[in-house]
Amino acid sequence: MHARAAAMVLAFGRRVHALATAIGIALLTVCGVFAEGPKSISVEHVGVALLWAAVLGTRLLGREGSALGFGRERSSDDGAADSGPARWSWRALEASTLVVVGVHAVLSLMGGWESTLRPLVYVTIALVVATTPRAVAITVVASDLALEGALYFVTEGRADVPPFALHAAIVVGSAALHAVVTAVEVARIRARSKRELEASRQRLSEDARSFRLIAAPSAEPRGRDDERAWRASVEEVQKGLYWTLDLLKRSLDAHTCTLLWRDESAEGDKLRIAELATDSDDVADGPFDAGAGAVGPAASRGLVVNITPRLGYGGICFYRSPARVQAFLAVPVEEPGPEPATANGDKSPRPATPGVLRGALCVDRLDARPFTPREEELVRSAAAYALHTLENERVFLALEESKREQALLYRASQSLGAALNEEQVIEASLRAAAEIAPHDFAAITLYDPQTRKHTVRHAVGERSETVRGLTFGDNASLTAMAVKNRHYLPYRGEFDPTQQTVFTRRATLQSMQSLLILPLVVHQDAVGTLTLAARRREAFGSAARTTLQVLANQVAGSLMNARMVRRLEELATQDGLTGCLNKRAFLDELDKRVRSAERFGKKLSLIVTDLDHFKAVNDTYGHATGDIVIKKLGEVLQRAKRETDVVARFGGEEFCILCEETDTSGATLLAERVREEMGKAVIQTEIGALSVTCSLGVATMPEHAGDRNALFEAADQALYAAKRSGRNKTCSPVSKTTPPVRPVGRAA
Ligand code: GH3
Ligand code: MG
Ligand code: MG
Repeated sequence: MHARAAAMVLAFGRRVHALATAIGIALLTVCGVFAEGPKSISVEHVGVALLWAAVLGTRLLGREGSALGFGRERSSDDGAADSGPARWSWRALEASTLVVVGVHAVLSLMGGWESTLRPLVYVTIALVVATTPRAVAITVVASDLALEGALYFVTEGRADVPPFALHAAIVVGSAALHAVVTAVEVARIRARSKRELEASRQRLSEDARSFRLIAAPSAEPRGRDDERAWRASVEEVQKGLYWTLDLLKRSLDAHTCTLLWRDESAEGDKLRIAELATDSDDVADGPFDAGAGAVGPAASRGLVVNITPRLGYGGICFYRSPARVQAFLAVPVEEPGPEPATANGDKSPRPATPGVLRGALCVDRLDARPFTPREEELVRSAAAYALHTLENERVFLALEESKREQALLYRASQSLGAALNEEQVIEASLRAAAEIAPHDFAAITLYDPQTRKHTVRHAVGERSETVRGLTFGDNASLTAMAVKNRHYLPYRGEFDPTQQTVFTRRATLQSMQSLLILPLVVHQDAVGTLTLAARRREAFGSAARTTLQVLANQVAGSLMNARMVRRLEELATQDGLTGCLNKRAFLDELDKRVRSAERFGKKLSLIVTDLDHFKAVNDTYGHATGDIVIKKLGEVLQRAKRETDVVARFGGEEFCILCEETDTSGATLLAERVREEMGKAVIQTEIGALSVTCSLGVATMPEHAGDRNALFEAADQALYAAKRSGRNKTCSPVSKTTPPVRPVGRAA
C-alpha cells in the first residue's frame, strides 16, 4: 500500500517536476531574488542555476526524446501515431518554459527591463516557435507575456503601459512571423520531396519500360511490391551494364563507352543514354536523334560505324562540344525478333525473323588509333552480353510477377475452398480481387437462366449501396452481354459512363474511368459476373485481367459448390412432394423445441392431421391425383401456419404442425382454420371435381404430456378420436388423466 502510494507520488513528481521548477524560478524572479545585479550573486543563486540546468538537461536529453527532446518529434505522451506534425508535446513545453524562465532570470540579473540583453527574449521565442508544435508555442508565448507583465508591473513597479504593450506586440509579431516562415518552409520541403518522389517513380517506369522489363507500354507499378521489384531490376540492369562498359573501356583504352538506347515512348525516334563509362565531362544528357550523325547508321539501320574522325568533328551526338576523340566505333544492338508461331511437332527449319534494333554501343578513343576488327568483335560481344543481362532481368521479373500472382491465387483459392456458403464465397472473392487489382467499386452479379434475371448479389465501394440487390432482365447492359457472350467487357477496359451501361441505365458508375466485367463461367455457362471499376484510367491491364479471369473461374466453381451444398442440405431436410420438412428434420426440430419449452416453462402444442378416407381417393382417382391432394394439404398448412410454427410431412398423408408458446385453444384455432380451408378446396380431375376433408388432433405440453413421446401419443389419440367420431373434425384431450377426446369442430 505504502509502496504504491510512494510510486504514485514519484510518478506524479516525475510528471510535474520540470514545470514546477520553471514556475518556482519564475516566482523567485518576480519576487526580485535576481534583481540585485551580478555583484550580488550568492550560493543560493548558483544552486538555483544548477537545479535549472539539471532539470533542463533531463528534458533535453531524456530517453524518449531524440534531437534534443525539444523539437516536433513525438514523445511518449503525445499519443499520436499518424505521420503529421505532432500537435502537443509535454516535453517540448517543459523544456521551452524552462528556457524562457531562465532567460528572464538572467535578464533580471542583468538589469531587468532596461537590460541590453532584452532582444534575447525575441530570439528565444523565435527558437521555440520554430521547433515546437503550434499549441506548445502558443502556450509558451502566453506564459512569457504573463511573466514579463508580472516582472514589469509588479517587480519593477512600472505603470506606463505603452512600452510594455510595444514589447508584447513585438514578441507576438515575431512569433507569428516565425510560425509563418516555418510553415512555408515545411510546405516547400514537402512539395519538393513529393515532386522528387514522383519524378523518381516516373523515371523508374520509364527505365523499366525502355529496357522492356515490363510488357505493357502504359504500365504503372501496381503497388509497393511492383515498384520494389522494378527498382531492383532496373538497378541490377544498370549495374550489369556499367560493369560491362567499364571493363570494355579499360580493355580498349577508350575515352567513352556508352550504350545508347532507342526510346520508344518519346515522340519520334530518339536515343537515350542507358549507361555510360567515360573520362569526359562533356557528355550531354540527351535524348538524341536516332538517325543523326555517326551513331545514326548503327542505331537506326543496324550498320557498324568504325571511323577516325578529325579533331573537332561534330557528328558524335552525345558530346556537347565538338569531339576530341580521333577513333570512333558504334555497333548496333539488336535483339532477336519474336519467335514465329509453329504448329506443335513441326520440325521444319524456321525462317529467320528480322531482329529488332534497340540502340547502339559506342566506343571512342582520344588517340588516332582506329579500332581493329578484333576490337570490333569484342564490342559486339559486349553488346550481346548487355542484351543478355537485360533478358535475364526480364525473365527474372516475369518469374517474380508470376510467383506473386500464383501466391495471390493460391491464397484466394484457399479461402474460396474454405467458404461454405454463397456469402462466404462472395466475401472471399471480393477480398482476393482487391489484392489482385486495386479498385474503387466491385460487385458480384448472379444470373438465373430460368427467370432470365440478373441480380447484384453484393457490391462494395463507391455508391455500392445504390446497386446492392438490384435486379434487371436481359437488357443491353455490359453485364448482360458479358454473361451472354461469356467474354469480359468492355473490350479495351476503357469505360465511358455516358455511353455504356453497367447494370441498368439508372444505376450508373459515373465517376469511374476503368471497368472490367468478367463472366463467372462454369462448364459452358456464365452464372454471373465479377465487376470491377476504378476512378483512374487503365486500371485493369491485360496482366491483371488474366489473373482476375482465373480468379473468376474459381469463384464460379465455388459459387456452384455452395449452391450444391445448399441444395443437398435442403434435400436432406425437405420432403420432395410438398417442400415441408421431412420426418427426420421434424423430429430434430421437435427435440429442440421440447427442451426449450421444458427449460423456460412454456407451452408447446402439436397438431397432427390425416386425410379422411384417402385410400378411397387413391382407388377412385388414382395415385397421381392422390399426390395432388397431399400437395394441396401441404399448401394449406404452409399458408395457415405462423412464422414460428414448423410444418412437416410425417409420412403418407399425415402432417404435423408444431406451435411454440401456444396453448391448446390457440392450436385448435389454427387446426380449425386448416380443416375449414381444406374442406373448401376443390381439385379438378378428369372424372369431376374432388374435395377431401381431414381430421386433426391437438395436444399441448405440459397439460397433456410430459415429454416428446407422450406429446405424440396424446395428439395421435386426439386424432384417432376425431376419426372415430365421424372425421372432418379437430379433437384435443380433455386432460392428462381423463380420456383424450373432445371434439371441437365438425363439418355439416
Ligand atoms: P382414414 O380416414 O381412416 O384416414 O382413412 P384412410 O383411407 O385415409 O386410411 P389411412 O390414413 O390409413 O390411409 C393411408 C392411405 O394413404 C394408404 C395409401 O394408399 C395412401 N398413401 C400413403 N402415402 C401416399 C402417397 O405418398 N401418395 C398417395 N397418393 N397416397 C398415399
Ligand atoms: Mg393415414
Ligand atoms: Mg387417412
